Amino acid sequence: MNPFQYEQSLEVDSSVDRVSRAPEATFLAGGTGLLDLMKLGVETPAVLVDVRRLPLAQIQELPDGGVRLGALARNSDVAQHPLVRERYPMLSQALLAGASGQIRNMATVGGNLMQRTRCAYFRDTATPCNKREPGSGCSALEGINRGHAVLGVSEACIATHPSDMCVPLAALGATVRVKGPQGERAIPFADFHLLPGNTPHRETALEHGALVLSVDVPALPAARHSLYLKARDRASYAFALASVAAVLELEGGRIRQARLALGGVGTRPWRASGAEQKLAGQAPSPEVFQAAAKAALEGASPRAHNGFKVELAQRLIVRALTRLGGRS
Ligand SMILES: Cc1cc2nc3c(=O)[nH]c(=O)nc-3n(C[C@H](O)[C@H](O)[C@H](O)COP(=O)(O)OP(=O)(O)OC[C@H]3O[C@@H](n4cnc5c(N)ncnc54)[C@H](O)[C@@H]3O)c2cc1C
Ligand code: SF4
Repeated sequence: MNPFQYEQSLEVDSSVDRVSRAPEATFLAGGTGLLDLMKLGVETPAVLVDVRRLPLAQIQELPDGGVRLGALARNSDVAQHPLVRERYPMLSQALLAGASGQIRNMATVGGNLMQRTRCAYFRDTATPCNKREPGSGCSALEGINRGHAVLGVSEACIATHPSDMCVPLAALGATVRVKGPQGERAIPFADFHLLPGNTPHRETALEHGALVLSVDVPALPAARHSLYLKARDRASYAFALASVAAVLELEGGRIRQARLALGGVGTRPWRASGAEQKLAGQAPSPEVFQAAAKAALEGASPRAHNGFKVELAQRLIVRALTRLGGRS
């Protein structure tokens, strides 16, 4: 591991100031992602600004009935919080489907949002990777790409966004509050993670030195009936091959509102708006659910080893909608 300077910060403003003034500085939260990448030589910050003592760990109700998740709230605490479990069960389920108990006890909301891809080539400094080293090429295009994305891909990068937590947040249309050198701003979740395009090294809308303060989840009474399903190679401690976060609200025998987002198949947490439109106003049926699942994967662009993800994700969508349809 490269030598680095460690600093502990007690104030939001000075943390932002410190990192934004030094291109080689970065924030340290739970450390479960960053420290691994430093050991692998993928990330080589010269200065680590530890933000764990900043007052950003609260989980609070918002006046409109939504919930604010502080950037330093631990994944375990968010998953177990009564407000989250009652109002957004799919968010609690997604967090509990991720990593292990020990990791969730350290990992934070901000770190989960900012976590980097698990593409094996990205994590291996001996191989070309446009995300790690712009312009060097993408080893996954013709390499082992079983775990890679089929939606939102480019010829420069097909890496999957690995987060479980971000999938329900995409479905819920959360807002990310950040503080950067120019002040505070709110970023709609759909704009937070960027598509790879020709610049896969640019992953989020954050400028260098901007600190995530919280994720604000809007009030959505329908989300009390929501579900997260994750398909993976092992029953625990494995990233998603495909996952779905779903909300289904029925009224008078018809679908009043549906929210769907996918994980494990997209280069960013993937809101399936086309599928939501197919569902709205329809009477729930296997055919309607299948049509929505088909719409969700429209435009999928598989490579040699990940074509199975298209059908896997479609089956998960149908299963989630069927389970919610029976429960509403
Ligand atoms: C073995 C293993 C299995 C895992 N399995 C899963 C899984 O199944 N599903 C899943 O979703 N995740 C999984 N993870 C990933 C895990 O969720 C992330 O490592 C974790 O959420 C990162 O949070 P952290 O607080 O530890 O972040 P850190 O490692 O401290 O930081 C990660 C990145 O975020 C930046 N950062 C942190 N906080 C902020 C902030 N407030 N503002 C701006 N930037 C910030 C850091 O600078 C760094 O770049 C796994 C991790 C491991 C090691
Ligand atoms: S898929 Fe993206 S992260 Fe993986 S090797 Fe290609 S450029 Fe790098």
